[in-house]
Amino acid sequence: MTEMEFQLSAIIKCSGSLTGISSAEIADFVLYCNETLLKKGAPKGGGAAIDWWNVAEEKLELKLVSDRYVRVHDALLRLKKELAKFLGKHRIGLRGVEIQVYEMTLDWDEDWQLKKLPFVKQMNQENGRLKLSLDVDEFALGNRIPDRLLKLLGDKKEAAKWKGKSEHWELLFESEKKPYYFDKDPTEEMLNRGWIRHAAGRGQFIYGPQITKIFRAFERILFDEIFTPLGYEEMIFPKLVTWDVWKRSGHAKGIYPEAYYVCTPKSRDPEYWEEVMDYYKVTNEVPLDMIMERIENVGGMCYAQCPPSWVFLQGKTMPDDILPIKVFDRSGTSHRYESGGIHGIERLDEFHRVEIVWIGKKEQVIEHSKQLQDKYRHIFEEILGIEWREAWVTPWFMAQEGKAGLSELKEAGTTDYEAVLPYSGKLLEFQNVSVNGNKYPKGFNVKLQSGEELWSGCSGVGLQRWAAVFLAQKGFDRDNWPVKFRDVVGELPEVFRFL
Ligand code: ATP
Ligand code: ZN
Ligand code: MG
Repeated sequence: MTEMEFQLSAIIKCSGSLTGISSAEIADFVLYCNETLLKKGAPKGGGAAIDWWNVAEEKLELKLVSDRYVRVHDALLRLKKELAKFLGKHRIGLRGVEIQVYEMTLDWDEDWQLKKLPFVKQMNQENGRLKLSLDVDEFALGNRIPDRLLKLLGDKKEAAKWKGKSEHWELLFESEKKPYYFDKDPTEEMLNRGWIRHAAGRGQFIYGPQITKIFRAFERILFDEIFTPLGYEEMIFPKLVTWDVWKRSGHAKGIYPEAYYVCTPKSRDPEYWEEVMDYYKVTNEVPLDMIMERIENVGGMCYAQCPPSWVFLQGKTMPDDILPIKVFDRSGTSHRYESGGIHGIERLDEFHRVEIVWIGKKEQVIEHSKQLQDKYRHIFEEILGIEWREAWVTPWFMAQEGKAGLSELKEAGTTDYEAVLPYSGKLLEFQNVSVNGNKYPKGFNVKLQSGEELWSGCSGVGLQRWAAVFLAQKGFDRDNWPVKFRDVVGELPEVFRFL
């Protein structure tokens, strides 16, 4: 039994009856296909073959079989071209192909059960073999759906292998122990002090003047310690992200459970919406069902910040001498559906992050990530005075594609910054530095004049997470804050009082 077997039954419809062609002539054609056409490119003994055929008026019915070389859908394409030539001699044209059966069988000794797969109408998993029966038409075959299903199965297998093991995590650096001046939950404390209030949405807060000033102080530190000395310029990235972007960034492979989805009205004609408006006016209830029928999804809210910025460079070629490029964005919110995981300002559905992006040749990008890491160490050590550590972890896009093993190469990958929250003893990831390899330039088709490979990196500074860590360790008594940080923050404004 070969490792992979494919079977396809199809009816090829023609423009005229085939009964006028002698069966010897057809048999010759089939022989040519089986000996030459469907074997081309396959190692000896491999390839595809017409296993059975039958002529019925203007229809040619046939069954194709193959191994992993010249898979039956590729064989069908070759056959169609050759058949068109053959029938052309008899002044008969091809009208269409109806796929009746498409089956593939492969070695599969996984002990976990596969769930529903796209285009698969039946599956059978036993005795170390997996048999899939596909519901595909000619168009789907043209889009190489069977090949992509095999790739998906390979990814799932790889992901399952890494699932049991804990995510790759390796300590890179650990600061000295620092004194903690607080043992409570900083979110609770800020709520008590009226620094923040729960907003109407889940995982969303309104940030009062004091904490906002602290966020802005963090940003000023980034300016003074990183952006100015390292030559960064500010940009404004979009905050509504369309599917095209997430397809290119890879997020379309897995973002679904955490996305905030965005919809547009199917029409802006007020009449189209009149029923909805009237319903609201007479019930004071917003009729969600009626709204859902009248809107369509276009993408989602900003999730990872840098992906939509790549459209700026999409399809462009850049001269080598402008590298490395260093830009950042702090222009808006990020949104993630964190479900039950939301916790105070540590895990929000709506948060604020400064996203730092650098682009260059491989060595430039790796080198710059080291510079950034040095700057961050200086900030955490000399200005915020916090206790933290750095760890090398599997980046999301590698984990998602079952490529966790790749990050062990230590070139492309993510460094997470974690700090302990004394009130709970738990560690919180408060920012990251990622070298993303050629992922984004490749996804968005950005090239260099020299033809050399373009790489990029990004680093997301979560303002709420910085605040959560700082306040959890240092507390709210400013006398316990490092002098340098106190100087950057200045006085905390008192604006509101309530009766
Ligand atoms: P976590 O493991 O805590 O969910 P993540 O791995 O999903 O974090 P990234 O995708 O690496 O986070 O996002 C980069 C940065 O964005 C984080 O380091 C953090 O500062 C911030 N961030 C991510 N999710 C949230 C959230 N729900 N609330 C607040 N900040 C967040
Ligand atoms: Zn990014
Ligand atoms: Mg997360």
